[in-house]
Amino acid sequence: MRRKLAAGNWKMNGLRAGLSEMQALAEAHATPTVDILLCPPATLIAPARVTLGGSPIALGGQDCHAETSGAFTGDVSAEMLKDAGARAVILGHSERRDLHRETSEEVRLKANRAQAAGLMTVICLGESAFQREATNTLDIIGAQLSLSVPDSSTGENLVVAYEPIWAIGSGQVPSPEQIGEVHTFMRARLEHRFGSGVGRSVRLLYGGSVKGENAAEIFSIPDVDGALVGGASLKAADFSPIVTALEEA
Ligand code: PEP
Repeated sequence: MRRKLAAGNWKMNGLRAGLSEMQALAEAHATPTVDILLCPPATLIAPARVTLGGSPIALGGQDCHAETSGAFTGDVSAEMLKDAGARAVILGHSERRDLHRETSEEVRLKANRAQAAGLMTVICLGESAFQREATNTLDIIGAQLSLSVPDSSTGENLVVAYEPIWAIGSGQVPSPEQIGEVHTFMRARLEHRFGSGVGRSVRLLYGGSVKGENAAEIFSIPDVDGALVGGASLKAADFSPIVTALEEA
């Protein structure tokens, strides 16, 4: 059985004062029946761990370098995230692929290092609006999946998030059929590559304009094991209904 996962990506948002939102979420979900992961800016991971105390809410980074240490000004390594209290890291988010020109090969190198450091990697894939109209979405997703996911992946250290770029922050959500088609495809590809044991144990998240109002419908889609949430993860009042919908799914 795959344990469901509600993950929040705070992006470049949040100061220490915003940790009160994490505290409120921890109080609202003291004994959650799903996994909860919050990925704040790297500067907040260590103080957030203190704020969360014994809460089962896990923390993650939003990117890491493919090397352990060295002359890489401004970068953060997987080991550093782990040392700060992170248990996971988001890799290959479309904002990294687009704004920082990250390729799937680079994402795989980062994921290799992160998995070796003991972090769970949340690897993001997704097609642009242009790609959905002009080409076959499944070809795009298939190529990103095979190139971004390292061979060392297991059900414990890999989570895959399908995030159509046109749905991120736009309020536009694909139809249940569109989400289901991609998730079924990703599951089949993972089973083909890693065997059915590992392939069936990897959690598949949907991401893109998930809100309290649409969460239950999204979580009823087969092979959707949870969500990666951007905007609605910043406030406990917005994220908590999504966690509850996942618990009830
Ligand atoms: C994201 O950026 O990963 C995301 C899903 O954002 P939003 O929920 O705001 O669409």
